Amino acid sequence: MTLSGNKTSASGYVFDIQGLSVHDGPGCRTLIFLNGCTLNCHWCSNPEGISLQQSLMYSPLKCIGDGNCITSCLHNAIHLEKDKLVISREICDQCKTPTCVNDCYTNALQLSGYEISASRIYEIIQRDRQFWGRDGGITLTGGEPLLQIDFAKEILSACYDAYIHTAIETCGNIPWDNFKKVLPFIDWIFFDLKHMNNSVHKRGTGGENTLILKNAKQLSKEFEGRLIFRIPIIPNFNDSQENIEEVISFIKETGRKEINILPLHHLGREKYERLNKKYLASKYPVPTIDQLKKIEKVFRDSGIDCYVDSETPF
Ligand code: SF4
Ligand code: SF4
Repeated sequence: MTLSGNKTSASGYVFDIQGLSVHDGPGCRTLIFLNGCTLNCHWCSNPEGISLQQSLMYSPLKCIGDGNCITSCLHNAIHLEKDKLVISREICDQCKTPTCVNDCYTNALQLSGYEISASRIYEIIQRDRQFWGRDGGITLTGGEPLLQIDFAKEILSACYDAYIHTAIETCGNIPWDNFKKVLPFIDWIFFDLKHMNNSVHKRGTGGENTLILKNAKQLSKEFEGRLIFRIPIIPNFNDSQENIEEVISFIKETGRKEINILPLHHLGREKYERLNKKYLASKYPVPTIDQLKKIEKVFRDSGIDCYVDSETPF
């Protein structure tokens, strides 16, 4: 018998599980990073999590050029061009037999993302639980954790039944039905608002904000737990006074009153190189503490509780 009482436990793809985190919810937590996202934000620090399954990552600095991967790839997805290894991503992304990784002795090739059952995740959670202390719990993040909805639901409902605090971090760009399936099992939601103008939102994230704003309003009405909006502060993209004022009006309209502002960082840049993806966020500077404090003050002056970075009072 498994978590849900079914014969088989749902399984899904995750690209990381981090125990003992002190961010993204109260106390000490286990963060579970689920694969797949419906947006493609320029500044995403987890680009390896955008694909619904696994991604091959290549580190040229570790590569000794022996060409083992070229001969071991059954799909002819790797070749040399001017002495550089080139991976044909359209072939590689479909691969179910990544022999290249096994034959790369220097770990220059690694897979990000693996399939795991919800029951195995629950075992890991139970193992971590003894180290959380009085508070603590789990946070599903990603990627967009509610894309793999059956998998997410099984983890969340099992934790909820075991009195484990549950939180999710969502981009909001998913069908309302996905939210509905898991709302009874969630204590906290961190909900991203990236830009209030639809065309600017689309330019920076690859997706429209229409469904996101609709879901935010609906959640504000139907979700009984704590809903904290989040904005990644991206200078020259969403930090204008006009956008911040629109965010304030929107939050007031929802009746909620909390926002967490997170500074842009460029720590994920190296992963883009490993995925052969272009990092489009270089053009945005990292916000200074002064800039963040000014934005915090604008929110607070308008009656919204604003927390900077990991200052959220839990
Ligand atoms: S993951 Fe598969 S398709 Fe991609 S390079 Fe390796 S063996 Fe070839
Ligand atoms: S097997 Fe690894 S070290 Fe050898 S060429 Fe391929 S990536 Fe480089």
